[in-house]
Amino acid sequence: MVDCLFCKIVAGEIPATVVLDGDGWLAFEDIDPKAPVHVLVVPKRHLADIGELGTDPAAAASLVAGIGAVARELGLSAYRTVFNTGAEAGQSVFHTHAHVLGGRNLSWPPG
Ligand code: AMP
Ligand code: ZN
Repeated sequence: MVDCLFCKIVAGEIPATVVLDGDGWLAFEDIDPKAPVHVLVVPKRHLADIGELGTDPAAAASLVAGIGAVARELGLSAYRTVFNTGAEAGQSVFHTHAHVLGGRNLSWPPG
């Protein structure tokens, strides 16, 4: 059993501000938001990164559905979805999560 922050949030052992609780995924507010809307969408199953997520097509499809549900719930017409993969790319929690960022103009490419 891995000692994992987001598994503990999924299990309700660590508090989070839940946005939506879906079938196979949970969406909650990022504790250190980088945009007016910054929600994390995680699979309920422990999958370390997007590569592992890809080995479970049902979990991957469910997570994408969760991202769409969050956007609809929050009325986001434009948003950015980011998966950081690997410490050198900024991944700090090794339970895969989609960052859903919105509520302001998001420049592209990012700075
Ligand atoms: P990453 O750096 O891509 O792995 O993203 C991890 C994200 O988790 C960061 O944006 C953190 O602000 C966020 N985070 C860390 N701890 C918590 C927590 N207890 N509740 C909600 N978000 C968290
Ligand atoms: Zn986990």
